[in-house]
Amino acid sequence: MIDDPRSPRTAGSRPPAGDPRSAIWRSLSELSDPKHFRELTRDEFLPGASELNRFNRRNFLKLMGASLALAGLPACTRQPLEKIVPYVRQPEELVPGRPLYFATAMTLGGFATGLIAESHEGHPTKLEGNPGHPASLGATNVFHQAALLDLYDPDRSKAVLKDGRPDTWENFVAALNGIVRPTGKGRGLRLLTETVTSPTLYSQVQKLRERFPGLTWHRFEPIGRDNVREGAKLAFGEIVETRFHFDKTSVVVSLDSDFLYSHPDSVRYARDFSARRRARPAQTEMNRLYIVESAPTITGANADHRLPVRHADIEPFARALAIGIGAISDPALRLPPPVFEKWITTLKDDLLSCRGRSIIIAGDNQPPVVHAIAHHLNHFLGNVGNTVEFIAPAEPEPVDQLASLRQLADALQNGDVETLVILGGNPAFTAPAEMRFADSLKHAKFTAHLSPDVNETSARCDWHVPQNHFLESWSDARAFDGTVSVIQPLILPLYQGRSAHELLDALFAAPGRTDYDIVRDHWNSQNPGADFESRWRQALHDGFIADTASPPKKVGLRSSGIPASHGDPAGLEITFRPDPTLLDGRFANNGWLQELPKPIVQLVWDNAAYVSPALARQKDLANGDVIELSLDQRHIRVPVWITPGQPDDSVALHFGYGRQHVGQVGRNTGTDVYPFRTSATFWTAHGVALKKTGGNHHLVTRQAQQVIDSDERQILREGTFEQFQRRPDFVRRDSESPVETLFNPPGSPGDGYRWGMAIDLTACIGCAACTLACQAENNIPTVGKDQVAAGRIMHWIRVDAYFRGTPENPAVTHQPVPCMHCEQAPCEVVCPVAATMHDQEGLNVQVYNRCVGTRYCSNNCPYKVRRFNFFDYADYTTPGFKPMRNPNVTVRWRGVMEKCTYCIQRISAARITAEEQDRRIRDGELRTACQQVCPTEAIVFGDLNDPDSRVTRLKAHPLNYLMLGQLNTRPRTTYLAKLRNPNPGLT
Ligand code: SF4
Repeated sequence: MIDDPRSPRTAGSRPPAGDPRSAIWRSLSELSDPKHFRELTRDEFLPGASELNRFNRRNFLKLMGASLALAGLPACTRQPLEKIVPYVRQPEELVPGRPLYFATAMTLGGFATGLIAESHEGHPTKLEGNPGHPASLGATNVFHQAALLDLYDPDRSKAVLKDGRPDTWENFVAALNGIVRPTGKGRGLRLLTETVTSPTLYSQVQKLRERFPGLTWHRFEPIGRDNVREGAKLAFGEIVETRFHFDKTSVVVSLDSDFLYSHPDSVRYARDFSARRRARPAQTEMNRLYIVESAPTITGANADHRLPVRHADIEPFARALAIGIGAISDPALRLPPPVFEKWITTLKDDLLSCRGRSIIIAGDNQPPVVHAIAHHLNHFLGNVGNTVEFIAPAEPEPVDQLASLRQLADALQNGDVETLVILGGNPAFTAPAEMRFADSLKHAKFTAHLSPDVNETSARCDWHVPQNHFLESWSDARAFDGTVSVIQPLILPLYQGRSAHELLDALFAAPGRTDYDIVRDHWNSQNPGADFESRWRQALHDGFIADTASPPKKVGLRSSGIPASHGDPAGLEITFRPDPTLLDGRFANNGWLQELPKPIVQLVWDNAAYVSPALARQKDLANGDVIELSLDQRHIRVPVWITPGQPDDSVALHFGYGRQHVGQVGRNTGTDVYPFRTSATFWTAHGVALKKTGGNHHLVTRQAQQVIDSDERQILREGTFEQFQRRPDFVRRDSESPVETLFNPPGSPGDGYRWGMAIDLTACIGCAACTLACQAENNIPTVGKDQVAAGRIMHWIRVDAYFRGTPENPAVTHQPVPCMHCEQAPCEVVCPVAATMHDQEGLNVQVYNRCVGTRYCSNNCPYKVRRFNFFDYADYTTPGFKPMRNPNVTVRWRGVMEKCTYCIQRISAARITAEEQDRRIRDGELRTACQQVCPTEAIVFGDLNDPDSRVTRLKAHPLNYLMLGQLNTRPRTTYLAKLRNPNPGLT
């Protein structure tokens, strides 16, 4: 069921109904023409979906190399035979089927997140958060989950290349030293890195500077945080990092900050934020989130009040709020639009009544002055020292990265660069367009790029050195709070890769140390002593070095105040944002992330310009229409997506797509918007001309697929905290209970386990990490854009987004939907071969060998959670993928129905351990993959026969309800209704 791309033309014609149960909608198509939408979504698959030839066969085959299978596509429905060869001499600690776990860490934007990697017989198969890590407390996000696929990506770079031809590491080292050493002091030597927080790498750079005083070190990230640093300098005269304590906060005001998803500390913030929102009996307070934002985000979806405004209007809003509260004075204030007035009055009252218990947070994309205003507000409201603290930045010697890259680009163009070594990143793709960085590279005498794949930058450098994946190399990095995290490998390098440490070491007189030696030597030099070995081993075991978090720092507000505001920019605005699943483009070849529906719009395999329904009407645009945006002689053509909640007069562009030098998966996906992004328009531009071209691009969204249809529409229940306080079980008022029966229904309490799950919709932020964790745990394949369009996406747990209210600014609620494991499962009674059936613990199990693919079960499932493997989506042939698979989960083949099993392999493993120790499985000992990854702990799984288990307690919670309970399916998965905490002053 493809969302009808033409329908949104009339979006907004249907006012929201008064009855809250009928006011939710899933797409603008549904809102504009519910009857047509229902017809589109009535059948589970599009007409003809069983045929292969209605799809672009070439596109389908193209994707096989990374996540799909060529083998068996024509007819084969059996897995190939494999021989099992036992160990001749089995290592003592290796027991087939029993994984080993090692602590490690992964960096994004330079900041580390602590991970636990699961290893089966030497192969990493899953990444989880490290619960002992003080910064992240065990939480991870979609990028950490998907990083495993990058390790096994067959398109990874495998050998050193010289001018695109295979060469050797030794020849590279000789060539590098051959050009650097004769200069003596390193004249014309430049080093370009991303953000570096690794103490070891920094010490190597320092030693290099001593050895080569001519060395200049540049840094650049396309998702840079220059504005944050400059904002701190404006407010305090020095660069400090701000840490927020959402677990102590009553009121949060976000000034365009997507702190629940895009912030470097977002997994921790999501956990802390949701901890203050869980409804408990006799609870008297719940936090309240206000957001003013320039494009719909995950954080905006979780706000109690959301104000969509242009990017340019956020500064006047912040000024007006700060002046209204008394935090700053500004006689030259540009008057805020009248729509702000009510907001500012209400916010002022709310913030002043919560002194010391609020947070004002500005988005990284907002100019420094907005950050400075936020600092003034936090100081004035007494938040500093309570909910807000300052620490030294995790990055040593932080610089203005945009200026740093510009300096390098100028030096390249002036011929001042003899040798340029680039560690990671892809500046030829991501640098601001006016720098012409890709072309400038040819002016250097010697260029080398360390990178995991041959990307746009590698292709323009003389030398390319494959970079080891973090699961193949030793390193260290600081988390956002400053904690030093140790990155230890799980596997020897699969190819001839090197780490950044080894490459820098190659510039010293006696290179050849391994990255293990380099990292260990560094820490030994920092903390020598007889007990170093035991401390080092402890750090490796824990995954971090204890007590290395940065202590709070005292800073004083500068008296010079806030600079005067600029004028009101005119014309259409565009904003630049990292793609929610590809970031700056580094995950473009990751099929899991390409196929992960993007927040709010649920697009897959593409990016688009988000336009508001009003702008679409004004310009006569429909979804997929290609527009041309023009500014200062720059032009770009991009398809549009009409996005509920997108501010009028502002178009959001997501960068990261449209890579030219990329593997098979990322090729020909999306549009490259970097050529439209300059230093002057790094986050936003104004006065942009928009023209409809007449072209159309096929965009695919999952939003209107697997639609649960019910006349009653009680699938999503919501309310307010005030309603909950007045009557805690208010959500049950209108719901029907399962039909009473004289017989013992299936699922009656017995002596064994009775598995069940509860999902707290108030805690769920819609980050979709559960979808990816399930994919990694259960060997779930990707299917490609055309197959998603046919409704064949294979995710076992999807995250549905529901809208309520007007398309201009709807409230968005996310609902994760796995198999409900119904006690009276409609799928079981229609299966002609008993392939889907119940086990004695209440699991609705799927016997793959029995399944003959009639799909009756899927047709009869009201929750639409069954996935049919139309083709051999799983790749049996690419050798690199075999070690990635979870050996405890069957890899399914063509013609088989599959779905969530409550991670039955984890249940079995926990059962074996418990039986060995002659006890029952303890509550919390067993967690499903979706539960384990969830940063907000919204998913709880356990034994309903245990009266003290968390899941049993949640089932008794007054907010607990059954989805489609009136069907008498008796689902084991239930939900806690979504609560919001609106301010009566704004409702
Ligand atoms: Fe994210 Fe899934 Fe947890 Fe919701 S339930 S917060 S979507 S991981």
